[in-house]
Amino acid sequence: MSRTLIIGCGGVASVVIHKCCQNSDVFGEIMIASRTKSKCDALKEKLQGQTKTVISTAKVDADNVDELVALMNDYKPELCINVALPYQDLTIMDACLKCGVHYLDTANYEPEDTAKFEYSWQWAYRERFEKAGLTAILGCGFDPGVTGVFCAYAQKHYFDEINYIDILDCNAGDHGYPFATNFNPEINIREVSANGSYIENGQWVETKPMGIKRVYNFPEIGEKDMYLLHHEELESLALNIKGIKRIRFFMTFRQSYLTHLKCLENVGMTSIKPINYNGMEIVPLQFLKAVLPDPASLGPRTKGKTNIGCIMQGVKDSKPVNYYVYNVCCHEECYAEVGSQAISYTTGVPAMIGGMMLLTGKWKKPGVYNVEEFDPDPFMDALNKWGLPWKESFSPDLVD
Ligand code: NDP
Repeated sequence: MSRTLIIGCGGVASVVIHKCCQNSDVFGEIMIASRTKSKCDALKEKLQGQTKTVISTAKVDADNVDELVALMNDYKPELCINVALPYQDLTIMDACLKCGVHYLDTANYEPEDTAKFEYSWQWAYRERFEKAGLTAILGCGFDPGVTGVFCAYAQKHYFDEINYIDILDCNAGDHGYPFATNFNPEINIREVSANGSYIENGQWVETKPMGIKRVYNFPEIGEKDMYLLHHEELESLALNIKGIKRIRFFMTFRQSYLTHLKCLENVGMTSIKPINYNGMEIVPLQFLKAVLPDPASLGPRTKGKTNIGCIMQGVKDSKPVNYYVYNVCCHEECYAEVGSQAISYTTGVPAMIGGMMLLTGKWKKPGVYNVEEFDPDPFMDALNKWGLPWKESFSPDLVD
C-alpha cells in the first residue's frame, strides 16, 4: 500500500486530505505533517472512522531539510504533496531527493524577500530528479494546474497550433466581509499587488498593477470586471504549447476589494520589506495577515460560484479554431462536501488528482515537469469524477 506525505495543514491541504480519504484505493496511507500539529490531529480526528485511508500526523518545520529528511526516512512515503507555502518548495525538493520520494506542489518557489514568481529555481532541479529516477510535478492546483492541463488537452485534440491563450479566473463568491483573501493573505496580496505582465511574441510585456481591465460575460455567472495579472503558468505554457503568439491571465476583482487594497498599499501595509516596530522587526504584510480573516473561516460564509478556464485561438487543418474550456464550482456545495470554500477546493482537488496520476504511473517520468508536459486525458477524466467537471464551447466570446 503506497504512502503519501502531505506537508501543510491549511485551507488547500484540508481539501487534499479530504479528497485522498475519499480515494483510499490509491491513497491507502497518508501522513499529515505541518508546523502546527494540533491542526493535523484535529483533521485526523474528523476523518478517521469515515475512511479506509490510514492517517498519521507529525510536526515538521518544512524550512528545515534535516527535519524533513528525518520524517521521510521514518515514514518512507512514495510521494510528498507540498501544500505548505511557496517558500518551502526547495527545502522539500531537497529532502525528496535525499530520501527517494516523488514530489508535487501547487505554487512555484518564492524567496521570502522578493516576489518574483518564476520557475527558474525549481527547473534547476531537473537533472537531479532525472538522475535519481524521481518525478517532480510543479504547479498542480487550478491555476497553475488545471489551466495547464486544459491547454495540453486543447493542443492534443483540437489544434495544430494555439496562437492566443487567455486564462480567465472569476470568483463571484461573496463572504460578506469588506476585505478578506480567499487563500493565504500574504501570498495572495503579493500576487495581486505586483506589476501585471503577459507574453507577446516571445517577450514579457510589463503593466502597472491592475493597469489593464476588461469586462467579461462569464458562463453561469454573468458580467464581471477582470484585470490582467502576472501568473506563473504563463512562463511554462509559453514554452510548452506550440505556436503561442500571446498569452495573458485575467482575474476578477470587486471594486470594494480594490479600494481596500489600494488604501492598504498607500499606507505601506502590503510591503514585504521588514520594518522596526518597538524594537522588533516585523514585515507589514505578515502583520496584515494576522489581522485579516483566516481564509479557512470563509467556508461557511461564502456564497456564489467560481468560473476558471482558458480561451484559445489557433489553427487546425489550416482552419481557424476558437475554444473555451472551463469549470464552474459552487462555494456552498464545496463547503457541504469538505468544509471548505471553492478556492481551496479548486486547488486541492487537482493536487489530489496529480498525486493519483503519479501513484498510478500515468504521470511518472524522472525529472521536473509542469503539468502540461503530461498526457492530459486521464487527468481530464479524473476532474469529471472527483468534483471539478468541465464544459467546453467552440464559439466563446473573445477578450479584446
Ligand atoms: P494556508 O496559509 O492556509 O496553509 C499553509 C499551511 O502551511 C499551514 O498549515 C501552515 O502551518 C503550513 N506551513 C507554513 N510554513 C510552514 C513550515 N515552515 N513548515 C511546515 N508547515 C508550514 O495556505 P493555503 O492552504 O491557502 O495555500 C497553500 C498553498 O497553495 C500555497 O503555496 C498557495 O500558494 C497554493 N495555492 C495554489 C493555488 C493554485 O491554484 N495553484 C490557489 C491557491 C493556493 P500553520 O498552520 O502553522 O500556519
